[in-house]
Amino acid sequence: MYADGEFEAVTRRVLERADRARDVLADYQNKVDEEYVPFVPQCEACGKLTEGVTDVDLEVGEVHYVCTDVEAGDQTIEGCGHEGAASLRDGKLPWRFEWPAQWEILGVDFEPFGKDHAEGSWPSGEDIAENVLDIQPPVPMVYEWFTLDGEPLSSSSGNVVTVDEVLDLLEPEVFKYFFVKTPRKQRDFSVEHVDQLVDEFDAFERVYFGEVDPHEDDERELAERAYPMVVDDPREERVRIPYTFAAVLGMTDDPDMREDIARKEGHIPDDAPEWAVEGALARVERARNWARRTGNEFDYELKRTAMPDADFDAATEAALDELADFVAEGHDGEEIQGEIYETAKRHDIDIGEFFAAGYRLLFDDTQGPQLGPFIAKLDREFVVARLRREA
Ligand SMILES: [Zn+2]
Repeated sequence: MYADGEFEAVTRRVLERADRARDVLADYQNKVDEEYVPFVPQCEACGKLTEGVTDVDLEVGEVHYVCTDVEAGDQTIEGCGHEGAASLRDGKLPWRFEWPAQWEILGVDFEPFGKDHAEGSWPSGEDIAENVLDIQPPVPMVYEWFTLDGEPLSSSSGNVVTVDEVLDLLEPEVFKYFFVKTPRKQRDFSVEHVDQLVDEFDAFERVYFGEVDPHEDDERELAERAYPMVVDDPREERVRIPYTFAAVLGMTDDPDMREDIARKEGHIPDDAPEWAVEGALARVERARNWARRTGNEFDYELKRTAMPDADFDAATEAALDELADFVAEGHDGEEIQGEIYETAKRHDIDIGEFFAAGYRLLFDDTQGPQLGPFIAKLDREFVVARLRREA
């Protein structure tokens, strides 16, 4: 890339700004003195890269050098002593300049790299990009830096997740977001808590479109910079169903019913374009995969279409009606859970049997997820009608 001239313009710019280059580099590297030149000519006689720059002539576009000995670590690479002049194509930028120069030449806006670079070349590269090259550094993606459910990724211990598996659970843009959020910090990919990651992404997206105000300024900055790189085709009309509600919808198989409920609950606007509706409902399938993979509280088949056959005594029926009234008022999961106990007590019903009545009505089963918090996540109209045995 040097020989065919692709680096020439940026190499010239670095050399024109050699003072700035020295100032910035000195923060990251020892032995950067007044004599330091950010270019390594290749000796025309012996072909070795040499640091013996004696003069830079940018008008002619030449770097004069003496092929001196080069100290590399504790080794000495002997120079041949040749004195010559190299064009800006006959040599290279030092690595710390070369990497950000590549970002400019290749138009890199999303840069994956390993932990070793994250600690060494990345901070200087970012600084050089901004303060020497005057370009925006790419969004970093440190791929060796994540753990899975709190454990280091390891194929030998079976603690791995493939990209395909991840994309069964969430949209590609959410996975990319995982790498750009809170750069340079250790991060954990938790399959169990995928819902939290997706919620974070949804919030990040709303900040980008100015639909909500961020809690901190740097959230807006990250959204403005990273969102267009994380999402291939940013479109404001896209629709996101909250992930756990998508999981609730995933408890029913009927695609029309999923869409009806999502619309009724206000998660799909009336004027949403067809592609946006499709995208929103695709999340339901992913959330369903998540429920199956983790066996969480959404891994049940909710009997929405038809009410399961059930025969309750008068006390249980009265208690279910009261519980329905309480749910209709709008309470959170803990409150509903508490009220289930209270209602059973008031009607002198065995608590285990009262829970079983709820599971029968919802799942046609004798057991299920923790009932109060689960009911709170359902669409209220449905659960109230079902507790009243109306539908
Ligand atoms: Zn030489």
